[in-house]
Amino acid sequence: MSLDRRHFLAAGAGAAGALLAGCASTGPAASRPAQPFFIGSPAQMLMPKGKAPRVVVCGGGWGGLTTAKYLRQLAPSAEVVLLERNPVFFSCPISNKWLVDMVDTSFITHDYLRVSAQHGYRFVQCEVLEIDRGARRVVTSQGALDYDYLVIAPGIRYNYEAWFGNDRAIADATRTRFPAAYVSNAEHFALKKALHGFKGGDWVMTLPPPPQRCPPSPYERACMVAWYFKANKIKGRVTILDHKDGVRPIGPGFRAAFTELYKDYITYVPNAHVQSIDPFKKEIKTDAGDMKFDHAVLMAPHQAGDLAWKADAIGLNSQGKYTGWADVDPLMLNLKNDPNVYVIGDAVGFVSPQFAFYPKSAHVANQHGHIVAAYIAERVAGRSPKATLPDNLCYMMVNGDPREAISVQFDYKVNAQGVIEQTQIDINQRSADLVRENFRWAGLKFDDMFS
Ligand SMILES: Cc1cc2nc3c(=O)[nH]c(=O)nc-3n(C[C@H](O)[C@H](O)[C@H](O)COP(=O)(O)OP(=O)(O)OC[C@H]3O[C@@H](n4cnc5c(N)ncnc54)[C@H](O)[C@@H]3O)c2cc1C
Repeated sequence: MSLDRRHFLAAGAGAAGALLAGCASTGPAASRPAQPFFIGSPAQMLMPKGKAPRVVVCGGGWGGLTTAKYLRQLAPSAEVVLLERNPVFFSCPISNKWLVDMVDTSFITHDYLRVSAQHGYRFVQCEVLEIDRGARRVVTSQGALDYDYLVIAPGIRYNYEAWFGNDRAIADATRTRFPAAYVSNAEHFALKKALHGFKGGDWVMTLPPPPQRCPPSPYERACMVAWYFKANKIKGRVTILDHKDGVRPIGPGFRAAFTELYKDYITYVPNAHVQSIDPFKKEIKTDAGDMKFDHAVLMAPHQAGDLAWKADAIGLNSQGKYTGWADVDPLMLNLKNDPNVYVIGDAVGFVSPQFAFYPKSAHVANQHGHIVAAYIAERVAGRSPKATLPDNLCYMMVNGDPREAISVQFDYKVNAQGVIEQTQIDINQRSADLVRENFRWAGLKFDDMFS
C-alpha cells in the first residue's frame, strides 16, 4: 500500500471518527484536532516492510554502527535500520583521556545522521522497548517494525541487583551520586565534573568481577585520575578496590605505574569483594576492609545490556540460573535457538572453554560488526557464510607527562577440536610510541564507522 493511500485512509478514518464523536458527544474531545503524523507511539507501525530483506540493528554503539554501514556495502539489496537511544555517539575508548582534558569532546563524539545518510541506512533515535522473536517484531518508542534478520548490539548493563537486591532507591542514589561512567551517557559528564571539582581526600574505585567491559580500562582511569591529582597538586588518593586477586591484563605494566609514578597517589587492594555500600554516609564494606570516601566511582557487576534480556537471549547455567550474557553460537554469533538473530559485542556470552569470553572491547565489537554484516550478506545472497574470528587490541595510557601507554593484544584461532583458542601478548613497557599508536587506532576506528 502506498504512503499516500495509507495517509488518505488514516485521514478518512480520522474524519469518520471525528464525525461519529461529534454525533455522540458535545464534550471537549469532540473538537480536539488530529495529532501530528510524526508523533510516534509503540502501538503504531514505524515503517511498513517491503519485499527487500530487512535487517534491524538494535543499539548504535561500536558493534551496531559497524554492522549497519558494512551491511549496506555487502548486501546492497537489503534494507537496514539502526535503532539507538542516544542522539550522538560518545566513545568510551579515549574517554579516560578526555576526563583529564587530553582530548576535547569533539574527538570522542560523532554524528549519527550524516553517516546514516551517507551509507544509505535508516537511523531512528528511539528506545527499543520490546523484542518479540516469535513475531519477528521490534517495538520502539517511535513505533514497531518487522525484521527478517535482527542484530542485537546492546553493550552492557550494571547489575545493581547484586549489591542492593530489589532496593531501587539505594541503587538510584548510588548511580546518580557516584556513577560508574561505563556506558555512553551523561554519567561521563558527571564524573568529569566531580573530578574537576575534587578538593582532595579519598577517591575510591570499585572494580567489578569478570567478565566485565574492558578489564584494563579501570586501571587506566585510576592512573589518569592520579596523574590529574599530581599535576594539579591535589592532595587526593585513589584507592582501587579490585574484586580480582591481582591486576590483569598488563599487570606488570600497571603495577609499575602504580609504584613508580603514583606511589603517593594510588593504593591497590586485591580481593576487595563488595559486601555493602552506603551512598549517603559514603561508606563501603569489602572482604578486604572497610572505607569511607570523599568521592567514588562505584562499578556494580556487568551483564549484557537490557536489550539482550528483552529478546530473551540470555543463557542459563547448569543450575538453571541466568548467566547474564547472550547464549550465542561461538563461531556464527547467532542465538543458539534462533538462526536469524545475532548478538555481537560486549553482550556475547561464553565462547570457549580455554578463555570463556571474548574481551568486552570496542575493538572486538567493531570486528563483530564486520563479521556479522558479512554473514548476513552471504545469507541474503543465498550462500552459507564461513566462520571468521575477531582479534583484539587495547592501548592504556598510564602517564600524562610524559605521555606513555602500555598495551595488550589477543589473537584467536579454531583448533583441531573445533575450540576457539586465545593467545595474549602484553606490552608492559610504557612508551610514547604506544600513545601515538593508541590515537592512530582511535582515528582509524572512528573512520571505519563514520566515514
Ligand atoms: C572507560 C572505558 C574505556 C574503554 N577503552 C577501550 C579501549 O581503549 N579499547 C577498546 O577496544 N574498548 C574500550 N572500552 C570498551 C568499549 O567501550 C566497549 O567494549 C564497546 O563500547 C562495546 O561495544 P558494543 O557495541 O557492544 O556496545 P556499546 O558501544 O555500548 O553500544 C550499545 C548501544 O546500544 C544502545 N542501547 C542500549 N539499550 C538500548 C535500548 N533499549 N534502546 C535503544 N538503544 C539502546 C546504547 O545507547 C549504545 O549506544 C572502554 C570502555 C570504557 C567504559
